[in-house]
Amino acid sequence: MNPIDTLAINGGKPARQRPLPPNYPGATVMDEAEGKASSAVVRAQSPFRYYGPDVQHAVRHFENEMGREWSIPYVLGVSSGTAALIVAMKALGIGIGDKVIVPAITFLATPGAVVCCNAVPVFADVDDSLNLDAASLENVYDDEVKAIIVVPILGTPVDMDPIMSFARKHKLAVIEDIAQSCGVKYKGNYAGTIGDIGAFSFQMNKLITSGEGGAIMTHSPELYERAVRYHDQGIMREKERFGFPDVDEAERAFVGQNYRMSELTGAILVEQWKKRSQMITVMRDRKQQIVDELTRVLPSIRFRGVIDAAGDTGSSLGLLLPDAAHTQKANDALHAEQIESFILYGGQPVYKIPQIWRQRTADKHNFPFNYPYRRAVRYEDGMCPKAEDLVCRTLFIPISPLLTEEDASQIANGVVKVYKAYRIGTA
Ligand SMILES: *Cc1c(COP(=O)(O)O)cnc(C)c1O
Repeated sequence: MNPIDTLAINGGKPARQRPLPPNYPGATVMDEAEGKASSAVVRAQSPFRYYGPDVQHAVRHFENEMGREWSIPYVLGVSSGTAALIVAMKALGIGIGDKVIVPAITFLATPGAVVCCNAVPVFADVDDSLNLDAASLENVYDDEVKAIIVVPILGTPVDMDPIMSFARKHKLAVIEDIAQSCGVKYKGNYAGTIGDIGAFSFQMNKLITSGEGGAIMTHSPELYERAVRYHDQGIMREKERFGFPDVDEAERAFVGQNYRMSELTGAILVEQWKKRSQMITVMRDRKQQIVDELTRVLPSIRFRGVIDAAGDTGSSLGLLLPDAAHTQKANDALHAEQIESFILYGGQPVYKIPQIWRQRTADKHNFPFNYPYRRAVRYEDGMCPKAEDLVCRTLFIPISPLLTEEDASQIANGVVKVYKAYRIGTA
């Protein structure tokens, strides 16, 4: 290789000749298995989970498999990841007058679900891993806060122990929004099974997918019962399944909504679920290979911080650059090299997205943001300095389970080429 190869963005030969596989892990491994499973539901003419001429119980089967493999007694399939968060908060009784701590770096759905529950999100800062930092909880905590949502971003674990101790001390519930991180582990335990409730998404971008879909999981029979009711118009069917046969409906029922999972979704997820470990194994290997190749050639390259490397799913690699301008340039240059990369959420913490920043909702007077909290909720520049600094200078490389070792090498070569041309990580 020449000391500095001409970048493709400047007319040079790209590091790769063909585009990489698209970054939809679960969808790209769909095959006959998902086809057969969903056909069985169609052939049985029974796409609804609770009744029909010949219900296949695909959703129930999926819930049972998740619970069995992750050793958690209660799993409930729902219609989306957003629905999972809403059902989780409703199960916990979160509502008007409450605040919920949300990390500064997450997708809009996390604070959006809080607002849907008539509560208001307050934002805590992140650590070097870009995930919630327990040390910043004290800054936003007051006695109107009722829960903390942690969000392992793009397949990496959150430092849960100090967050759980803070939550226990202040009697706060912990929801793990593991939409992006199915299969992440922290100290050997699956994310989603550590807090009070885990919330999953099976939307197209996530590790395993049915296009749309979600789930919650919990160790608590009380939370499970409330979740089932909220997701199904306040009703609890299948009472015998988990030993709730004697529940007095008139006493226990409350108004719910419809966030049920369809049998077609369940059937596809049963097959996707079987594929997740193999996908994680490949992604972790390819990521490690890229990291090894990069550190060999670029002595001062920096990566996103890691809390527990053994628990990473390998679905993304975060490169930490000197500043936002270099990050944008490197992103553009990599695309020209036919290498996928992205700056997460436009390089902004979630509270800077207009609907959150301006506290606008579909309700009159922007309810619930207008609730007269004792300590008003305001979103300001510099509120979470670490998130503001890091998110705009982290460049993510998606790691697909379809990458070959050769693809991984070409990704590393492309990054090296761009870093050398822009004199990043070379000193
Ligand atoms: C995708 C996502 C959600 C929402 O999931 P949907 O299934 O699209 O509703 C929630 N939280 C995070 C962190 C996500 O990435």
